[in-house]
Amino acid sequence: MEKEIVKSVVEMSAYVFQRGLVSGKAGNVSGRFKTDHGDVVAITPTLKSLADLREEDIILVNENGENLTKGKPSSELGMHLAIYKAKPDIYGIVHTHSPYATGFAFSNKRIKRLEGFGAIESEYIKDIDYFKPGSEDLAQNAAEALRNEDVIILKNHGVIATGSTVKEAATLVEFVEEIAKTQFVTHVLNSIE
Ligand SMILES: [Zn+2]
Repeated sequence: MEKEIVKSVVEMSAYVFQRGLVSGKAGNVSGRFKTDHGDVVAITPTLKSLADLREEDIILVNENGENLTKGKPSSELGMHLAIYKAKPDIYGIVHTHSPYATGFAFSNKRIKRLEGFGAIESEYIKDIDYFKPGSEDLAQNAAEALRNEDVIILKNHGVIATGSTVKEAATLVEFVEEIAKTQFVTHVLNSIE
């Protein structure tokens, strides 16, 4: 299982980078797997681009956030751990600063849910207030908001999605970016007289 999850974290990191959902050294991806000694989270390292990670770059940590391998995990490790704790049924998390969705996050407009990914239970994708990246406040508020949601918008920051696999979380982030793009175009066209 460990090898499979680590491979998936590497592949989905490259995927979200190639799809333009993250750039530079932003964003982080993780997957969870079960072991005889409790759950382990495989997460991308800090200060490295998601573009071309290798399996040996991925950091393994236990449920308490203790490092089981060498290297320094993403600065958002606390947020990933808090979300896994709040949602025992999810096994993948992807956080990006996708340009269109993040544009909405910096504006006073919200992203409407569109068909294509699960049931629509509320009109807009849930968002949470701005908290400093890497902070305990962000971790706790994101985890709380995601209890009953698969994806949320972090105001003035980005997007975070969860899934039953890492791939599902990555696909959801991609879907949210596509609907944000569509809605952006719609807003622009509607503003032309
Ligand atoms: Zn971020």
